[in-house]
Amino acid sequence: MSGTSGSGKTDVRYIGAHVSAAGGVGNAPLRAYEIGATGFALFTKNQRQWSAPALKPEEIETFKTNCKKCGFSMDAIIPHDSYLINLGHPETDKLEKSRAAFLDEMQRSEQLGIRMLNFHPGSHLKKISEEECLSRIAESVNLALSKTKGVTAVIENTAGQGSNMGWKFEHLAEIIDQVEDRARVGVCIDTAHAFAAGYDISTESGFMDTFEAFDRIVGFGKLRAMHLNDSKKECGSRVDRHARLGEGFIGWKAFERIMQDDRFGGIPLILETPDPEGWAEEILALKDAEQAD
Ligand SMILES: [Zn+2]
Ligand SMILES: [Zn+2]
Repeated sequence: MSGTSGSGKTDVRYIGAHVSAAGGVGNAPLRAYEIGATGFALFTKNQRQWSAPALKPEEIETFKTNCKKCGFSMDAIIPHDSYLINLGHPETDKLEKSRAAFLDEMQRSEQLGIRMLNFHPGSHLKKISEEECLSRIAESVNLALSKTKGVTAVIENTAGQGSNMGWKFEHLAEIIDQVEDRARVGVCIDTAHAFAAGYDISTESGFMDTFEAFDRIVGFGKLRAMHLNDSKKECGSRVDRHARLGEGFIGWKAFERIMQDDRFGGIPLILETPDPEGWAEEILALKDAEQAD
């Protein structure tokens, strides 16, 4: 743990990656520990399938035991939901299927003792308005929150590919505004998505402007996690292609700024960069950047 922050928020950063849960969720903390992570993300089920068998009591126990053994705080873990889920789907039957799958994932987090679930907001598929799509997403969150306890729904900003919502900070704010249990809704900012969506965090002034806008529109109080990825595509391309930190159009400096800025303290900072073999090295570089002042 490093020193105290001026903002009053603890500035311990949980640094990690989205690790594999192959062979069982209990393996995820072990894999995260091996690469020197202090936090991690995972899928609690196969992300490419709609349904999955329920978590067995022994799997849940192994997960909790391994998290404890490896020293992971429950605040340092943020699962990601399935890519199939579209909480703003224009068609009723598909929306209901997505809502059921999302609830299942929220319940999995709850069973594992995890306090968050990260999700991509949803897409209008050019069949309903953006406003209608955002309202459906908020209602989907309301339904899931009403049936679970202690788990926060964490909306991820997107690159704005196709008809994906959530690429503007205003979209995130609008969803939050329509969620009833405000205390259990938060956001995760993915740096590559923000950049591809048009927020130029590659320069010092662009970085300052972006997060000033974020604070004004959404508020740092809602920031529950970050996905740290560089971008293979240009700013404003609206294309989601992650690069290793420092090897894309964002560049290393932005990640160094995040590590030295108190506003990003106390939350998991998760790599989803393309080369898992390089994660240990990237985590080390981030930790070094945090220490250097
Ligand atoms: Zn992400
Ligand atoms: Zn992405």
